[in-house]
Amino acid sequence: MSTFDVIVLGSGPGGYVTAIRASQLGFKTAIIEKENLGGVCLNWGCIPTKALLKSAQVFEYLKHAGDYGLTVEGADKDFDAVVKRSRSVADGMSKGVQFLMKKNKIEVIEGYGTLKPGKKVSVKDAEGKETTHEAKHIIIATGARSRELPSLPQDGEKIIGYREAMTLKKQPAKMIVVGSGAIGIEFAYFYNSMGTEVTVVEYLPNIVPVEDEDVSKQLERSFKKAGVKIMTSAEVTGVDTSGEGVKATVKTAKGEQVLEADIVLSAVGIKTNIENIGLEEVGIATDRDKILVNDYYQTNIPGYYAIGDVTPGQALAHVASAEGILCVEKIAGMHVEALDYGNIPGCTYCMPEVASVGLTEKQAKEQGYDIKVGKFPFSASGKAKASGNADGFVKVVFDAKYGEWLGCHMIGAGVTDMIAEAVVGRKLETTGHEILKAVHPHPTMSEAVMEAVADAYDEVIHL
Ligand SMILES: Cc1cc2nc3c(=O)[nH]c(=O)nc-3n(C[C@H](O)[C@H](O)[C@H](O)COP(=O)(O)OP(=O)(O)OC[C@H]3O[C@@H](n4cnc5c(N)ncnc54)[C@H](O)[C@@H]3O)c2cc1C
Repeated sequence: MSTFDVIVLGSGPGGYVTAIRASQLGFKTAIIEKENLGGVCLNWGCIPTKALLKSAQVFEYLKHAGDYGLTVEGADKDFDAVVKRSRSVADGMSKGVQFLMKKNKIEVIEGYGTLKPGKKVSVKDAEGKETTHEAKHIIIATGARSRELPSLPQDGEKIIGYREAMTLKKQPAKMIVVGSGAIGIEFAYFYNSMGTEVTVVEYLPNIVPVEDEDVSKQLERSFKKAGVKIMTSAEVTGVDTSGEGVKATVKTAKGEQVLEADIVLSAVGIKTNIENIGLEEVGIATDRDKILVNDYYQTNIPGYYAIGDVTPGQALAHVASAEGILCVEKIAGMHVEALDYGNIPGCTYCMPEVASVGLTEKQAKEQGYDIKVGKFPFSASGKAKASGNADGFVKVVFDAKYGEWLGCHMIGAGVTDMIAEAVVGRKLETTGHEILKAVHPHPTMSEAVMEAVADAYDEVIHL
């Protein structure tokens, strides 16, 4: 039996980042992984989707080259090559994690791990050989997979989840995307750009339903302009896969209709990987598909911790990593502050991009704040106009009484790289006037943040 200070179960952005930080802090560390290093994020999530989206974006530029005074003849896509590029980017990233494990002297144990009482983990490798390892601290980071709805059972061919959606052998002519969160919307954008006829079906009244309503409406307009069909307040109640393609029954306030497509992508959220990992045997408490933890990610059983998608909180890579770092720093006896889940940015990488942090206008009102709202459209931004990307805006929400920056909501080109300004500003408890006095470079998209803040305080210059 090998003995460690820290064993991490699962090597996603939660697990591998935790292992590196643990090693930096002087802990003898091992990481257990049943598939590829890097987890969903690097292999099946954040990174391969962004590679696909980049191909879509370049293709869009080629199709609209004339708008920039350029002539591109015969611009076309090779779907197979687009998918291959995405896979090769993901493989490269996973190899990068291999390198990082080696560099940080972290032992990588390949196989399926099961927790055992007495702070042990048994691991079964691909040949069925079982080994047992023990540690002072065991951190569960087994992540999640695509959630299945009873009305939409995934068969991996006609009804698919995100893994199949990024590795299809043949581009579908028609696709229905069920769910308009970040995953559904990114695939809808990708396939529409590639030339697939896409219909998005969303149960709630707005697409990207967690976003500020103004952002949802703007994205809906942009998507419709690009040719994506959108059905909101609509529910897929059943699918018939007996024929050549799929017939999906969709219920709306106006009644039921049947949509036909080659493929239905189910993008209705995630299901955590908490079954068959020994939680019951060890006695670790769960609730509503999540492992229960305190502010430092300790479970109810001493010596066992959980971070990332398996715990409550936003299911995002940067959240998983931040939780893991905080967890091991606490184990190391460092002074750490609990994570502020109200200041986590969320991004959707379609075009126009969507990025936000903090309260929406509606949430701020519901929480009783007296607010000041400012908005600056990219149509008034020199950089946006010069770039030919004038769709979208920045919207800011401030508390009128104390000037607290309650929320920031952006839609437009490159905004996923701009939202960090609001995250840092909010973390440092910056007021609107401090943002106004921080000179932003010209011409940049980021000036729109300064102008939106100025608008909230009736000092806007370029409107
Ligand atoms: C299509 C898609 C796009 C996404 N895009 C983004 C994005 O742009 N930005 C963002 O922040 N987030 C994005 N996410 C979410 C992000 O991928 C997850 O939040 C993140 O991967 C969670 O990290 P994790 O470490 O908790 O778990 P995971 O990344 O799920 O990793 C868990 C790992 O544990 C392994 N494992 C599970 N059980 C065992 C076991 N018993 N033994 C050994 N190993 C085990 C798994 O094989 C896996 O490698 C996306 C997700 C998807 C599906």
